[in-house]
Amino acid sequence: MLSSDHQYKKELEFSLRIVAACARITRSVQETHIVNQEKADRSPVTIADYAVQAYVAQALKAEFPQDVLIGEESSGGLQESEVILQGVTQQVQALLPQATPGEVCAWIDHGKGEPSLRFWVLDPVDGTKGFLRRMQYATALALVEDGEVVLGVLGCPELDFGGLHGGMAYAALGQGAWWQALDGNQTPQALHVSAQEDLPKIRILRSFEDSHTNSSQIDALAADLGITAEPVRMDSQVKYVLLAGGQAELLLRLLSSDNPDYRESIWDQAPAYRVLLEAGGSMTDMYGRELDFTAGKKLSRNQGVIASNGLIHTTALNFFAQNQKNPNG
Ligand code: AMP
Ligand code: MG
Repeated sequence: MLSSDHQYKKELEFSLRIVAACARITRSVQETHIVNQEKADRSPVTIADYAVQAYVAQALKAEFPQDVLIGEESSGGLQESEVILQGVTQQVQALLPQATPGEVCAWIDHGKGEPSLRFWVLDPVDGTKGFLRRMQYATALALVEDGEVVLGVLGCPELDFGGLHGGMAYAALGQGAWWQALDGNQTPQALHVSAQEDLPKIRILRSFEDSHTNSSQIDALAADLGITAEPVRMDSQVKYVLLAGGQAELLLRLLSSDNPDYRESIWDQAPAYRVLLEAGGSMTDMYGRELDFTAGKKLSRNQGVIASNGLIHTTALNFFAQNQKNPNG
């Protein structure tokens, strides 16, 4: 059980309150701005990204004024578009009626921090394509202290899991992983990885977007392990919630052959990392290296990500070790 008093209690309670409010923003942006899904441009997700970052940043400034925030966005592009700035300000005003456009831009830029001894990481809308498709997306927040991810929260407004439509997965160091309703009205449910280690029965999760991974390597690994079920395609860190909750055993983020030098952004991995580890899973890069969150805004010392229920981790890593030695074989 999550102990009633632990080192990151204040930070965790803050994060849950804020990420729940962010789901109100993202849902409201979808209602207001995605009128015709077929013809939608990127502006709804742009509005949601900025509005969420502004909201989180102002809350963090008020509650933890000394803390650094590293968010995915900065207000540079926003200042050039009056229409977008107006849309963002309106969304923020739904929660903070007094907010002005100038304040909104300043809050967003509070998220332009650099890694330091203690910093927060935010992906306001992870899975932008999922958001636009009205499928899966997440608001992802983590706290990193001395190079260790000590807290992670994934707000998943569209995930059906544990009898809820929409919820938050969260974890603090040593406190287990949990899933709870966005309104906090139900008892949190513990997340545990699957105990499945029978290789042909392994369920694989992968990016929805082909350009974010390497489909032929995923197929080769599946064939090698004798897995016949199709990998489940899904946008965003919501995939890690399914892994942490025992609905899959392996998550593959591989390097696309079009972009082999791609390095993961910390906001795309840090929140999920703590949740998965506390649920009993493992997460390394594709060559078995620990994810190094001290390397800057990118995981520049890592390549790809392999996440699993732990039991099959070495098996998956062995496949990539073989491939690395023998890339054509
Ligand atoms: P997913 O939905 O799991 O594919 O992850 C979405 C994240 O992938 C986005 O937040 C982007 O930061 C990131 N991304 C963008 N381009 C790439 C790429 N070429 N390879 C891997 N990830 C990418
Ligand atoms: Mg992202």
